[in-house]
Parts: sequence; C-alpha cells; structure tokens
Amino acid sequence: MREIYFDNGATTKPTEQVVQIMTKVLTEDYGNPSSLHRKGQAAEQYVIEARKRIAGSLRVPEFSIYFTSGATESSNTALLGAAARAGKHRRILAWPGEHPATGETLKRLSEEGFEVTYLPVDKDGKVLLEALEEAVDEDVCLVTCMHVNNETGLIQPIDRIGRIVHKAAPKAMFHVDAVQSFGKLPIDPIAWEIDLMSTSAHKIHGPKGIGFLYIAKNQYIPSLVRGGGQERGFRSGTENVPGIAGFGQAVVEAYADMEGHAQHMQHLKEMLLQEAQEKIEGIRCNGPDIHESAPHVLNLQIEGVRSEVLLHTLEDYGIYVSSGSACASNKPEEKSPALSALGLTASEIDASLRISFSRYNTEEEVHEFVRVLEQTIPMLRRFRRK
Ligand code: PLP
Repeated sequence: MREIYFDNGATTKPTEQVVQIMTKVLTEDYGNPSSLHRKGQAAEQYVIEARKRIAGSLRVPEFSIYFTSGATESSNTALLGAAARAGKHRRILAWPGEHPATGETLKRLSEEGFEVTYLPVDKDGKVLLEALEEAVDEDVCLVTCMHVNNETGLIQPIDRIGRIVHKAAPKAMFHVDAVQSFGKLPIDPIAWEIDLMSTSAHKIHGPKGIGFLYIAKNQYIPSLVRGGGQERGFRSGTENVPGIAGFGQAVVEAYADMEGHAQHMQHLKEMLLQEAQEKIEGIRCNGPDIHESAPHVLNLQIEGVRSEVLLHTLEDYGIYVSSGSACASNKPEEKSPALSALGLTASEIDASLRISFSRYNTEEEVHEFVRVLEQTIPMLRRFRRK
C-alpha cells in the first residue's frame, strides 16, 4: 500500500544522505571524539564540521552551539539555567500555548517559587506586544516564546520580542523554542537578540535524539549534566557522533533551498485547504490565516467527526496525520495548549486534525488525501449521529 506521510510536525524521514553519513560513522568512523588516536580524531572531525555548518547557517559563532539530546533537553537546560542565574529577579513571562518541553519546565519553576505570567494573545494566539511591553520590568529574569507553533503553524513576532525585553530588563534572558522553524524559516539570533534557542534534528529530516542549544555570546547559564566535560564542559557525556553528523547534513540540505522548500509546502497547504473546502462541507482552518502561518502546518476542524477516529480511519488508507488532542482529558488546556489558547472548546479540539508537510510531499498526495476524506468523512458523520 502507498503511504502518504502528512505528520512531519511530529517527525520527518531522514534523507538518504543523512542515513549515509550516519551509517559511515556507525560502521567506520566509530571512534570516541575524546580519544587521542586517529580514530578518535576522525570522529571529532564530524562534530567540528557539523557545528561549523549549523553556526554558519545561523550566522553565529561556533562556540554558541551546544549539542544536546534534542529540544526537550535544550529547553529544560535553558529555562532551569536562566532561573538559576535569576538572583532576586523572580518573574518569568511566557506564552500560554508552549510545547510541554517548555510548559512543564515552567510549572516546575512556578512550584519552586518563580512568578510565571502567561501573556495575553490575540484571536490567533499571537503575543500582544503592547501587553509584553507593559508586563516586562527589571524583576523579569526570563521570557520564553516559541517561534512556530507545532499545532497551528502560528508564527510569533520573535524578531521584535527580544528588543522589547532587553530594553526594559537588560539582564533578562530571552529563550526561543525554534523546533518548528529552524531549517524552514529564516532565523537571525543575533539581530533578534535571542539569548537561548532550542532546536531538534528530527523535524528537518535528521535523526532523533539530537538537537542543540544556542547560547548567545556574552551569556552564561550553568550546566545541567556534569561528567567528562564534553561540549566545553557544558554538556558532559560522549557525543552522539552519528546523530551530530546526521544533523549537520540535514541542516546543509534544509538550507540549500529553504525558500523553495517553503514555497512548495505553502502551495500544498493552500491547495489542500481549498480542495477540501470545495468538496466537503463543515471544514474550517484553526488558527491564523493560512497565508500568514508556517508553510508546513495546517490545522483543520472537521464538524461532526472525532479526529482521533478519523486519524485511525486514514491510517487504514496508509495516510498518517495527527489529531488535535493529545490526551483524553476534558479540559481544553490539557488536550491542546495551542488550540485552547485560541479559545476552542474541548469538543472543537476533539474535531481538529493537524496535517503537516515536508518538502518531499507532492500535489498527487494532496489530491489522494482529499479523495479519501471525501469518502470517509460522510461515513463517520453518519456513524456519529446514530
Ligand atoms: N518543541 C516543539 C515546538 C516541538 O514540536 C517538539 C517536538 O515535538 C519539541 C519541542 C520537543 O523536541 P524533541 O523531540 O527534540 O525533544
């Protein structure tokens, strides 16, 4: 059966070149980068090269890039590290629709006595900059905001937030979860005054279990993982060399034609929404206008259908997507932080489906997907009414 993979917001398929370089590291250049002999040096070379490529793509110094096990570790390290440096400044400003990697860490900090304030948002979930200006003062030690939302594709005005924060609170750190934007949209950490930034390789056709934390020049946070002193003492543990090499390769490929890839995914997204709405009643788009959201994420609300049921029905056709709700709770904010930040009810969240593209998806896949929706949705709606 042919597969249509529209769940690229969850993870992506590693490219052939990524698999090739990782296989070479696993089978030939498997030395420990800390070993003094030739095999160790060969392994170290992959780490040096990947760091150089990643830093080059963001136009930041190589020493700003620290490899981690992925964005969850990066965000934990960033937030807990910023909090550890806070001194008497105990306020944290955040956005209500953060990924649990950030959201759960904020909960922990709140339990530890930090005052965490969630900023008000507009109807699409975008941070209101005037509200930020009002909320930020010298007591703020940390502001955290994700760049592209994984559920709705909303793009936050990251380019403007850093300046507002540092003007009012020069010592506050600005953390960005860039998991869904890195390698897909331009990011300029220096010009945007980002202090800490979390990313992950597996969202851009790299391997799982590898990411990096960007720490701006002149910024310092304490390390969470102590041991052998790898990553210049910041993140101990033998480097995941196959992962790092694969990440470096994925970044090169992502940046080779980032604009072209974005245009292609945007075209598929617009085509899918238009075709689905023409052919099927009761479909609307959750979140921002699709011309303003990230090119790879489309969130649909399908009247009268539980998306979890639709997801499993689509699976029988070899089609993979995500449902809006990640758990069985009846509370909207527990079901989906981003959709609940838009004011959706629990049942609207249950009817929401996330379709997320990669540069390798095709128009033919979109046509086929809509054909399958046309067949299955009326059937599921009838079934629901009984
Ligand atoms: N932040 C966002 C926006 C994500 O989409 C994800 C992955 O789903 C993460 C953080 C966590 O990334 P990782 O899987 O690398 O820990």
